[in-house]
Amino acid sequence: MKNFFGRMGDSLRRFMMGRYGMDDLNRFLFYTWVLLIVLELIIPVRGVKSLLSTLGLLVVIFELFRMLSRNIAKRYQENLKFLDMTAGLRKTLRINRRKFDDRKTYRYFRCPGCGQEVRVPKGKGHIRITCPKCGKSFEKNV
Ligand SMILES: [Zn+2]
Repeated sequence: MKNFFGRMGDSLRRFMMGRYGMDDLNRFLFYTWVLLIVLELIIPVRGVKSLLSTLGLLVVIFELFRMLSRNIAKRYQENLKFLDMTAGLRKTLRINRRKFDDRKTYRYFRCPGCGQEVRVPKGKGHIRITCPKCGKSFEKNV
């Protein structure tokens, strides 16, 4: 015999069968909703509060609509469009995350010739760096 949570999980799975579920756009909508709630809590202006709570409600309704939708092809296309529209931003975030992660072992410089960003290991003292893109070399302390 299954326990209560096992049975709950089964019926949720049955309910979600043939429905779209979670994707990147829905995750984004979820975080937007959380952000709106936090803003609503910290901004003490009544008019702004009700605007934020209305906006949050709309975001949640849209997210639930997408999750429970049976038109999977259409939701999939929306998600691709969302990913396409945010590709540049997501790339910038990824690069900055990487720079932050290796801030202790690498330094980043911009090539004075072409503007290409180059990554060099830290702690080597005064070094000559040759740009892998244009071949110009320049000196830096790392
Ligand atoms: Zn260069």
